[in-house]
Amino acid sequence: MKIFNTLSRNKEEFKPIEDGVVSMYVCGPTVYNYIHIGNARPMIIFDTVRRYFEYKGFNVNYVSNFTDVDDKIIKKANEEGTTCDVISERYIEECKKDMEGLNVLPATTHPKATEEISGMIDMINTLIEKGYAYKTDDGTVYFRTREFEEYGKLSHKNIDDLEAGHRDINVKGEEKEDYLDFVLWKPKKEGEPYWDSPWSEGRPGWHIECSVMAKKYLGDCIDIHAGGEDLIFPHHENEIAQSESANGVTFANYWMHNGFLNIDNKKMSKSAGNFFTVRDISEKYDLQVLRFFMLSAHYRNPLNFSAELMESAKAGLDRICNAYDNLMYLYENARNDISPIEEAKNASAEYIAKFESAMEDDFNTADAISAIFEFVRYINQDVNDQTGANVLKLYIDKLSMLCGILGIIVEREDKIPDEEIERLIDERQVARKNKDYKRADEIRDELLKKGIALEDTREGVKYKWV
Ligand code: AMP
Ligand code: ZN
Repeated sequence: MKIFNTLSRNKEEFKPIEDGVVSMYVCGPTVYNYIHIGNARPMIIFDTVRRYFEYKGFNVNYVSNFTDVDDKIIKKANEEGTTCDVISERYIEECKKDMEGLNVLPATTHPKATEEISGMIDMINTLIEKGYAYKTDDGTVYFRTREFEEYGKLSHKNIDDLEAGHRDINVKGEEKEDYLDFVLWKPKKEGEPYWDSPWSEGRPGWHIECSVMAKKYLGDCIDIHAGGEDLIFPHHENEIAQSESANGVTFANYWMHNGFLNIDNKKMSKSAGNFFTVRDISEKYDLQVLRFFMLSAHYRNPLNFSAELMESAKAGLDRICNAYDNLMYLYENARNDISPIEEAKNASAEYIAKFESAMEDDFNTADAISAIFEFVRYINQDVNDQTGANVLKLYIDKLSMLCGILGIIVEREDKIPDEEIERLIDERQVARKNKDYKRADEIRDELLKKGIALEDTREGVKYKWV
């Protein structure tokens, strides 16, 4: 299995630290509002990575945090006249509802930054003891960036260029030794939540939170660390500096980053107003469509969100679900239990192999979906009301297995029950007898909209999913 590693900027063969086990840390959202569809991208992508590892037999220890102390949360709490806890608890619950709708599996552990403060204090202490960090008079603790020789290795930035870029910036009022130094602990301001520490009553910096939560739940060295590409610098670069300085070992072997989600070809931003929450989208679409849309592109490419592309994702997903509905219908009404199965087995194996080779190539979900489409086309041509239940069952199992690896649910929740279809067909027959062709056509169109085509045959009306 090959993974594009941001560290080497190359696709590398994946080798786990421990045979059969994968440890993954994915930076989670800051919880001060409903999550937006940009936040949903890493959730969906890395959930799919996890599902593929699980399909391959790995035991995945998947950790994704909630950042529940932050300036934005404090601001929102002040606006509402409430506490940060109330805000973060509310939006963690809402985020979990959205994740469920997107069929994102709950992480093995979802740590919250505010519950891990003592670990952060320990790591900061270690960094101070080792000479990697220092306290200033106002009770701030900074990381001594230049002390970590490999600084810049993830973002491929040269430390001297970074310094030169900021030489003109006025850093008056800060007592940092060097412009590049970043905050590990900051003293409280009036009205802010705070914790006791050896340096001041205050709160941790954002970067140290992830270093500590990854260490506590996954160990000093982990297999995969992931997040959106905006996190490469400075967040992940700083996490590496802290963790490797404190622990003395490589922090993560593979760094995976998803590209950004844009709207109408522009960067999605709250201030520009071109911004959708997952909740907004759920009012118009089943969230499975959003998941399918995200997986239709390669995760490292930028992805443009537009109404047309969502409609085309919906049509694509419908094609798969219709094929599945049709298989279920034929299976439940199969006249033959057994028909020759060798060819069906070979064809399934061929499409599964195509799917796997796409996923093994740095999780190319776009090509994996193409393999599913090809499989669906093959199935649609191969099955009819003479097909044996054994063959139908094989297709049902394989198709739902492949979709399941992508976290796509093929059983439609809003699927029209068979009895309702039969009732509408009977009603149409009565309407036709009464020469009420208008009603008869209405019923046919209504069913067609749901993907069900009627066929008038000598043996009566038959139907199938199209
Ligand atoms: P935040 O809440 O901003 O810390 O973001 C949580 C996760 O969502 C991080 O992995 C971000 O990189 C990712 N993210 C935020 N905005 C976008 C976007 N527009 N497209 C893709 N990923 C994003
Ligand atoms: Zn993080």
